[in-house]
Amino acid sequence: MTYRTILLFGAPGSGKGTQGKIIGKIPGYFHFACGDAFRNLRITDPLGKTFIDYSAKGLLVPDEPTIELWRKNIQASTLNGTFDPVNDTLVLDGIPRNVNQARILQDTLDVKAVIHLACQDMNKMIERLQRRALRENRLDDANLAIIRQRLEAYEQETKPVLDFYGPALCHTVNSTQRQIHVLRDILNILVHVEKE
Ligand code: ADP
Repeated sequence: MTYRTILLFGAPGSGKGTQGKIIGKIPGYFHFACGDAFRNLRITDPLGKTFIDYSAKGLLVPDEPTIELWRKNIQASTLNGTFDPVNDTLVLDGIPRNVNQARILQDTLDVKAVIHLACQDMNKMIERLQRRALRENRLDDANLAIIRQRLEAYEQETKPVLDFYGPALCHTVNSTQRQIHVLRDILNILVHVEKE
């Protein structure tokens, strides 16, 4: 089984989650945010504990349990009918997050586009993350040193994923625009990809 897939790509604080949730409301699109799947785990779940250990340091969770969590969630959503793999487009947010994950998922994902929410202004992203810390109760957003570590992990480990998929699939959207304009640009890309 391969899934028709759009990847939402961008640094922490670039707005992937906000946009992903909106796109997931469009009939025919199913949004999966890997960070949300981790946060939905129970603290008594061994992977929940692993997640806290890594995310509290601003590090990525190891690949194998991450991919396993992804598979389980997609299977559960397929079984409960919220995701129809035959007709729906999967919108992935936060996965694959490094080249190894992209390789593991290569045979499973039929990637139609990578939408890169790009933000050149590091301070703006830090500001967004800090605002989110209290509003969404995210401890990993509360500490400046951890935010910097996550942005570093993004630069070192996640950005190379763009090269893995190559320029033909990658679309850049300026994420410093107002949200409605970011959404417009993403929708234009989706409409274009639909036609192909
Ligand atoms: P953000 O993109 O704002 O940093 P996420 O909610 O996507 O936040 O992720 C929060 C944390 O969850 C990450 O810092 C990381 O520890 C973990 N995580 C999420 N997705 C993955 C993934 N695909 N691989 C490894 N770790 C992940």
